[in-house]
Amino acid sequence: MRHPLSSERVTEAPRPRISVLRLGHRRERDKRITSHLGLTARAFGADEVILSGEEDPSAIETWNSVTERFGGDFECRYEAKPMSWLRRFSKGGTVIHLTMYGEPWREAVDDIPLDAPATVVVGGTKVPGELFKLADHNISIGNQPHSEVAALAVFLESWVGPLDESERFVGGEIEVVPSERAKRVRNHSGE
Ligand code: SAM
Repeated sequence: MRHPLSSERVTEAPRPRISVLRLGHRRERDKRITSHLGLTARAFGADEVILSGEEDPSAIETWNSVTERFGGDFECRYEAKPMSWLRRFSKGGTVIHLTMYGEPWREAVDDIPLDAPATVVVGGTKVPGELFKLADHNISIGNQPHSEVAALAVFLESWVGPLDESERFVGGEIEVVPSERAKRVRNHSGE
């Protein structure tokens, strides 16, 4: 599987914006998984997570706090009317819907261009049938039910490809230094 941003496709222009839209958030039932979904979006190359369903300031606070501490300019917001927003977005952007009913990602990922702003949509409660038609790509990560976090991580890793974290997550208070056996961090907060 070729990463779209591997050497033969690196372009000078910054790559188009990638958003992740979380449909149908339930404040009590989905608290942790939605929080992890936003952190996964950030860590695997998305520029923004859009929360919809029940409003949940704690999720927004978590995402902003991690961005403040670990750097980068990841954005997050609440959208009260996600399908209206997505219909407008789809007029110029690429809509990718992750669903266990979709095309196998290994076969499809190389055919999804990263040449326009894109929104990756994951569900929570019942996903509206309209989404399957509105999406440019309905993509499955296997055809078994599992989790939006797992699906998003696998898809973004295969579609966006490797990130240069030192370039992407700049300006944070904390920088993790990968280590074989210890927890090593660089603390920039005093700089
Ligand atoms: N109850 C929702 C429904 O019936 O539409 C789906 C619940 S599922 C746990 C939540 C989300 O995880 C799905 O909307 C989909 O985005 C994602 N997901 C779960 N399994 C997946 C798979 N095998 N491939 C792609 N996405 C998957």
